[in-house]
Amino acid sequence: MLVEREPYSLNAAEKQPLLLAELNELTKHHQQDCSPYRQLVAAQWPDFVAAEQTEQLPYLAVRLFKQLKLQSVPDADVFKVLYSSGTTGTPSRIVLDSATAAMQSKILVKIMQHWLGKARLPMLIIDHPGVIKDRSHFSARGAGIQGLSFMGRNHCYALNDDMSINFEALDQFCQQFGDGPVFVFGFTFMVWQFFIQELQKQNKTIVLPQALLLHSGGWKKLQDQAVDNTTFKQQVLAQTAISKVHNFYGMVEQVGAIFVECEQGHLHCPSYADVLVRTPGSWQTAAVGEEGVLQLLSTLPRSYPGHSLLSEDRAVLLGEDNCPCGRLGKYFHILGRLPQAEARGCSDTFSSGTTP
Ligand SMILES: [Zn+2]
Repeated sequence: MLVEREPYSLNAAEKQPLLLAELNELTKHHQQDCSPYRQLVAAQWPDFVAAEQTEQLPYLAVRLFKQLKLQSVPDADVFKVLYSSGTTGTPSRIVLDSATAAMQSKILVKIMQHWLGKARLPMLIIDHPGVIKDRSHFSARGAGIQGLSFMGRNHCYALNDDMSINFEALDQFCQQFGDGPVFVFGFTFMVWQFFIQELQKQNKTIVLPQALLLHSGGWKKLQDQAVDNTTFKQQVLAQTAISKVHNFYGMVEQVGAIFVECEQGHLHCPSYADVLVRTPGSWQTAAVGEEGVLQLLSTLPRSYPGHSLLSEDRAVLLGEDNCPCGRLGKYFHILGRLPQAEARGCSDTFSSGTTP
């Protein structure tokens, strides 16, 4: 099983046959236990029996999780339902049973430990404490922070509920832990807008030279402000002395198997997940270096058919097994969101033949 392997330890020759076998098995499982999924596959891939390469696996447009009840477990086994915030109103609905939820946490920890080490570090959260309090309206942000908080200890929230910086708490945290390794986490836009820019405005700096900053979430709002990854990192270094800054990409539809950016600025596939890039229109897989739509494969989703999904993100595959950082597996860049009309187009392709 891939879940037993280290995150970046398998080359293509080792990984692809294992990945293919697990994904074929998952496809069969979801066909059996999720009737809308069975209908979708039958409509789009009428001759499908099993894939000989991951490229041949059926895939669902991620938007379908907003439109259909896609679950492969009986209601009685539902342990938790995740909702994505999304920009279009209707949230995605992701159904977890306890086994899938446990596997997601286990894998998230495994990937995080690769970057953070095994010891729990003092953790600075660039958000306000209220974000995890209201459990009935648990946002994707709250869930993300909750999911990662058990990777750290002595949690400190850097912001007040009104998004201003809580300097008292921040200064105390830096005084107490600033000399050692520290885990800093926040959503990309929150880190930029309410922390880094605010420190700069107020002409303040903090000193966390051994910290590692992990941040996640779209670049869209930052791109609108003409802030790219390099600018982001330079500004973080200037205001906080943090030089280890890693973005990560993941979506609520595939929690656990996240894609973390290495020192080269490349997003890496862990052993449990993979990516393909497809050319819009023909939907053939694109070559390395060619822009297209990102398809995500993950061996974790068992309680819902989310093991092979066409995202609404544009991406480019950069290579496989040969990143200068030394980690094995495919690595890629995210280029941004698909325009809404195009995103709707790819989802409509898959809606025929189903009864919502
Ligand atoms: Zn790398």
